[in-house]
Amino acid sequence: METILFLAHTETDGTLGKAALESLNSAKTLASALAGSTLVVGLVGADVQAAANQIASSGATRFLGVAGADFAQARYSSDVVAAEALSKAAAASIIIGPATSRWNRVMAGVAQRLGGRIDTHVTGITAADGKPSVTRWYYRQRMEGVLSRTQRPWITLLESGCSPAYSGAPGSATVELVAISLPAQRTTVTGVQAPAADAQTIRPDAKLLFVAGAGWTKKQADGQAHPVEAEKLILGFLNKAKASLGSTKSLVDLSGEGQAVLTFMTHMNQIGQTGATPRHPKGLATCCHGEEPHTVGWRFINERRAINLNPACSWAQGKADVLYVADSFAVMSKINELLTAK
Ligand SMILES: Cc1cc2nc3c(=O)[nH]c(=O)nc-3n(C[C@H](O)[C@H](O)[C@H](O)COP(=O)(O)OP(=O)(O)OC[C@H]3O[C@@H](n4cnc5c(N)ncnc54)[C@H](O)[C@@H]3O)c2cc1C
Repeated sequence: METILFLAHTETDGTLGKAALESLNSAKTLASALAGSTLVVGLVGADVQAAANQIASSGATRFLGVAGADFAQARYSSDVVAAEALSKAAAASIIIGPATSRWNRVMAGVAQRLGGRIDTHVTGITAADGKPSVTRWYYRQRMEGVLSRTQRPWITLLESGCSPAYSGAPGSATVELVAISLPAQRTTVTGVQAPAADAQTIRPDAKLLFVAGAGWTKKQADGQAHPVEAEKLILGFLNKAKASLGSTKSLVDLSGEGQAVLTFMTHMNQIGQTGATPRHPKGLATCCHGEEPHTVGWRFINERRAINLNPACSWAQGKADVLYVADSFAVMSKINELLTAK
């Protein structure tokens, strides 16, 4: 008999975000798969009532909350105390939360405080024969492991995009507030500095991953490099298609080598063995050779297409569903034209 605590923080508008709703769905599914277990909700935020109402029909037996101005924003020293208090108040044996940057930073400390164990980057939570287990990837997403633990409490942080989001009808939930007296805080959160939404090129929820490779900055048929035109074409496409921007290692490393670079590209955009492994339904690689250390980062891209001048590039070796042997400058310019007309 497990007590499963769905533990989440609210977003700035007081509601629960998509990642939180996905982990609630997993917690709920696990609770119904484990006979005799109960689902409890634990929420942290400036005010948690709206979030509790949002998931009022989730089937949770209790709604616990830690609320107040001190818990509005991410801060290790206050979040760790709140999460610990909610876990204890729920007498939780399994704690499931979203792998947001806020929770990733804090939950290992919570496990330590509770004498429990934690698994991060979890991609699935299931139960077989009354025994819960989690899946996660190892060795840069090449091997999938299935883990089970007897130690309790057991905390798992679920990656986003791995479960459908909970979408039950909102209602009215009664929240039991857990009072916390925080010790004097050394860290004051004065605000958040973030790029404007349309300046943000990494969009995890985008339907398309658009990868730009080093070819965009290489000399073209006229013997010249065209980085300014490349920048215009890529940004134009991203703005119109609302795609997420990925890159190759070669392209993001170029600035260190003093070459003409795309100014909006950083190492955060790098896809691959030493980069990210995002999840998108479709991917389009342009001016990118498709070498294995890069394409290993495409593991979770369902439909892959590439545009390359070279018919013998690595995408042609079974790594893409469709390879257009063409000039990316010409193709993207035409696509942008069509998107503008649309
Ligand atoms: C240990 C290790 C880890 C690595 N990790 C990563 C990683 O995480 N991510 C990663 O990306 N790489 C990684 N690499 C590097 C990887 O092996 C490749 O070197 C890199 O992906 C190549 O980048 P690229 O395809 O952009 O560049 P290039 O190999 O230079 O390819 C450029 C391509 O652009 C094409 N092209 C040029 N002009 C045009 C045009 N007008 N239209 C169409 N096509 C055009 C060319 O035909 C060429 O195929 C790693 C390597 C090692 C050794």
